[in-house]
Amino acid sequence: MTFAATVLTLYPDMFPGPLGASLAGRALAEGVWSLSTVQIRDFAIDRHRTVDDTPAGGGAGMVLRPDVLAAAVDHARARQPHAPVLAMSPRGKPLTQARVRALAAGPGVTILCGRFEGFDERIFEGRDVEPVSIGDYILSGGEVGALVLLDACIRLLPGVMGAASSGIEESFESGLLEYPHYTRPVDWEGRTIPEVLRSGDHAKIAAWRKHQAETETRLRRPDLWERYRSARVDPPSGARQKSRDDTK
Ligand code: SAH
Repeated sequence: MTFAATVLTLYPDMFPGPLGASLAGRALAEGVWSLSTVQIRDFAIDRHRTVDDTPAGGGAGMVLRPDVLAAAVDHARARQPHAPVLAMSPRGKPLTQARVRALAAGPGVTILCGRFEGFDERIFEGRDVEPVSIGDYILSGGEVGALVLLDACIRLLPGVMGAASSGIEESFESGLLEYPHYTRPVDWEGRTIPEVLRSGDHAKIAAWRKHQAETETRLRRPDLWERYRSARVDPPSGARQKSRDDTK
């Protein structure tokens, strides 16, 4: 099944951009995923093809009009009724690997890209459009965010990554950052690869990697570490029930 991506944008020329190269590009050529762009300006209703207007209440910049956005969203949804419609916005819920995995398992995604000061808020009330952020910083437009989201989804599609297992141990998949990697040369500028990785003892290697992943997560990402720890200390009631049953 083809994962169908539709991007609603004022700059369709930005696509596929980097997604036309490397693994994603090959997968696009092979039909593992498909990409179509919708020019938001085509849904403008005046003869100047206006998509934005000044912010109500005053202030700098321009705001994308809800009527134009809704017409573009309706067009995309009619073509692909089952794909969720996400709007790139720094005010949205931050994108996570879990969300990426859920999206990649679905039929595809429709992404609305903002520009200027962003969207008229009423688009989120009048249409089933979910704001999604790619992080706590401001981009000049949603297109780069859409490329990030699509890249993260596409690499998970069946057949895109070389080794089927290589998605499983990545950072965030287990709730932890990944352990550090090393490759040849064994000695580089006097720095050697940790002895344990050359030992051939798989159990010892696995234990070392888990320890590294935990330590680095604790030091670099206390937010992730807290979540990981509390998930282990306080398992969901179903899991607690199961472990009690196991001891019988
Ligand atoms: N005035 C807005 C920022 C607008 S930036 C605010 O302060 O919230 C213009 C567009 O870039 C946004 O509409 C959105 O589509 C995109 N964008 C900017 N930062 C983003 C982020 N962190 N995640 C996702 N999209 C972002």
